[in-house]
Amino acid sequence: MAKLEILETPDARLKTVAKPVEIFDDELSRLVEDMIETMYEAQGIGLAATQVNVHKRLLVLDVSDNQDTPRVYINPEIIGSEGSETCEEGCLSVPGIYAEVSRAEKVRVAARDRDGNPFEEDLDGMHAVCLQHEIDHLNGKLFIDYLSPLKRRMVIKKLEKQRKIAGEKPAGTVF
Ligand code: ZN
Repeated sequence: MAKLEILETPDARLKTVAKPVEIFDDELSRLVEDMIETMYEAQGIGLAATQVNVHKRLLVLDVSDNQDTPRVYINPEIIGSEGSETCEEGCLSVPGIYAEVSRAEKVRVAARDRDGNPFEEDLDGMHAVCLQHEIDHLNGKLFIDYLSPLKRRMVIKKLEKQRKIAGEKPAGTVF
């Protein structure tokens, strides 16, 4: 297994719209394992392929308390949603920045597992929030894109300042 490099904003490659996975082979399995390892090492609860510069519709997440239950979603599609919830989000591709984002409270997702078998699942809580955040990555969208232009500019300024002071990354949940 290998740890992959995570792209950080304003890298334009984060705006790429990912293409569906068509071949479920060993190479895909390796990518899934590498993404899971990369997510754990970066202490994130989710990671989309886009973030490691692979533009395929694939994401991994783990919202379990002990970070021992990795989940894999390939070609995920939200086929139903309900309610709305506001949650503070962070992102491995936007280090050190946290902001409140409103999303659907509950979602039903259709996806494939790493062997290509289709499945459907109902998600809520952090699991639903994280899945929506990661699917946004596959569509080239970041959580800071939901902020007002003014707020987004402030965030980007903060990010630039932070980069000059190495190591300054406030703690929070990143995905
Ligand atoms: Zn993210």
